[in-house]
Amino acid sequence: MWAGIYQYRLRGEEHAWTPENVAHLQHAVRGNDPKNYEEFAKSVNQQSERLLSIRGLMEFKMPDEPISLDEVEPASDIVKRFSTGAMSFGSISHEAHSTLAIAMNRIGGRSNTGEGGEEPARFTPMDNGDSMRSRIKQVASGRFGVTTEYLANADDIQIKMAQGAKPGEGGQLPGHKVDKRIGAVRHSTPGVGLISPPPHHDIYSIEDLAQLIHDLKNVQPEARISVKLVSEVGVGTVAAGVSKARADHVTISGYDGGTGASPLTSLTHAGSPWEIGLAETQQTLLLNDLRSRIAVQVDGGLRTGRDVAIGALLGADEFGFATAPLIAAGCIMMRKCHLNTCPVGVATQDPVLRKRFTGTPEHVINYFFFVAEELRQIMAEMGFRTVEEMIGRVDRLDMRRVHRHWKADGVDLSRLLHTVEIDEDASLFQTETQDHGLGGALDNELIAACQPAITVGEPVRIDTTIRNVNRTVGTMLSGEIAKTHGHAGLKPDTIRINLTGVAGQSFGAWLAHGVTLVLTGDANDYVGKGMSGGRIIVKQPASVPRDPSENIIVGNTVLYGAIAGEAYFNGVAGERFAVRNSGAIAVVEGAGDHACEYMTGGVVVVLGETGRNFAAGMSGGIAYVYDPEGKFESLVNPAQVDLLPISPEPDEDEGTGRPHQRPSSVNDFGMGDMLRHDAERLKILIERHKLHTGSAQATKLLDNWGEALGAFIKVMPVITPER
Ligand code: SF4
Repeated sequence: MWAGIYQYRLRGEEHAWTPENVAHLQHAVRGNDPKNYEEFAKSVNQQSERLLSIRGLMEFKMPDEPISLDEVEPASDIVKRFSTGAMSFGSISHEAHSTLAIAMNRIGGRSNTGEGGEEPARFTPMDNGDSMRSRIKQVASGRFGVTTEYLANADDIQIKMAQGAKPGEGGQLPGHKVDKRIGAVRHSTPGVGLISPPPHHDIYSIEDLAQLIHDLKNVQPEARISVKLVSEVGVGTVAAGVSKARADHVTISGYDGGTGASPLTSLTHAGSPWEIGLAETQQTLLLNDLRSRIAVQVDGGLRTGRDVAIGALLGADEFGFATAPLIAAGCIMMRKCHLNTCPVGVATQDPVLRKRFTGTPEHVINYFFFVAEELRQIMAEMGFRTVEEMIGRVDRLDMRRVHRHWKADGVDLSRLLHTVEIDEDASLFQTETQDHGLGGALDNELIAACQPAITVGEPVRIDTTIRNVNRTVGTMLSGEIAKTHGHAGLKPDTIRINLTGVAGQSFGAWLAHGVTLVLTGDANDYVGKGMSGGRIIVKQPASVPRDPSENIIVGNTVLYGAIAGEAYFNGVAGERFAVRNSGAIAVVEGAGDHACEYMTGGVVVVLGETGRNFAAGMSGGIAYVYDPEGKFESLVNPAQVDLLPISPEPDEDEGTGRPHQRPSSVNDFGMGDMLRHDAERLKILIERHKLHTGSAQATKLLDNWGEALGAFIKVMPVITPER
């Protein structure tokens, strides 16, 4: 077997990044030296000729007459199409992450938070006019630090369906990189690794994806909603669905690269080159008349202006770069990212190593301008004045080299370079914006009525009806609150909205602090998705004579990825209740299968029966389940949790550790020291449930508290922090 699969070795496996071209690039950006960049680009572009990539099999078709370089659009316009790849704060250091953000903000490009949140301090411009705010906020399917405030501060919100370099795997951050600061941003436990399944575990259909796109658009209507897909056979069909689901932007991510946190086994032998996925996406979108309403970005191993030119000709409007700007900022491709020992302070959280970071925004900016200038040269030679003119012009690519190289003998690129016949007035690039249908949202009325609360904190009460066509109620309102008041929102209960009827999907998604939704009726799936501090109460009408312990009142996947807040449901919840809950507290009278799956924080109380596979993958938070018949143990997934009795004896008082009845601040919902005081906490939660919903079950349990307490079981994660 060849040596140097993961790291460059002399006479080993060929790598795109070699010590020579890394050195050339770093000299180029540090000295702002075009000569060194030329050497770098020559080395990378020559590699293309050694057929390290599919684009190495392609040539440009040149016109008889080039145009003058002066006629080509300026580099300062071109760089606005560039963004840095999704590398989370956690996988890379604060210094590296914020350097990329400052650089991209200065040139009008976009940096990407990656899936892992962003510290709110970065949303405010710096004193010198710079900004560390990443314009693209990645959310996966809505977990790990995805607060309303985070979303409200986005220009693009990117749903990561998968990663090009490791399709089929989700975000991974080893426990030794989750320090206190990272844990706080992600609303998770320091020291505990974050290994999450890919978002397609949560998004089962294009309808689910369309709903998530709609929800995110409601939080921040000004943001573009992007969906990141991987380059693989069939991606064109998925991209067509994404366009129909009203995404504004799609990223086709190739197999090159990897993340600053992936295990080595995830870095290779997976995915496919972006050229294949991009060509298929462009052709499928054109064939279905969907191309004009969605922007297409390509990412995965772009390094030079030649790469960008081929991306544009194959159909990309925008271009993402990851490793190259990191190298510009100091990465020396040691490939130690997953170990937290990065010697240059890029992919580490170690405070000593972070001090070694020497990258500056200027280095990153220099790199992007070099790429843009190289592209301009190619454009002039090809006779293109603007990037727009180039997009989708596959007819200007040739595959003649295929026949000149033994390794490529027989490779047929004709399907990649196929020109789709389109109407004369159809466009090869994005020209329209999607209609997200926000004009008819109930929230427009709610926002208007809540102005006194949003502007001066005056209490507002609203009584209205709701139907199942009213989706994502309370979310646009919450986005408005977060834009003005941040994550802290308004004082508890400042806005109280009483609704009667049946709520559509995503009722109370990303509900902000200070908003209480009281629904008399029932609700569909995704109630309280991403809830960020609000309170949701769902109870059945007094006139309905049904037993809440036997009737569903809220649908599936309730409280998905909730960060904070309270929920009280006077009835049974569907499947996957509180999946990925990372901080909300909830009381429910029964739950379907897979409740508390992948939960990382918060408290859940179930006053009745549950389905099977309870607590699968649960790594944080607590659940209490009422189990008078002793059936619960057989329904639990025991892999990561212990089942414990609840002691009726009060724990000794240790001041602030005791639970209390009323939430006292944004960060204190009255749960006290979560490792102790179970009986008190449980009683407080059931009392709150009775207060808010009038639950007969809560009344019955409280009336016989001594006996009831003995029938509760505590579900406690037993995750040992990674070392
Ligand atoms: S220098 Fe090495 S460990 Fe640091 S970011 Fe680059 S590849 Fe990763």
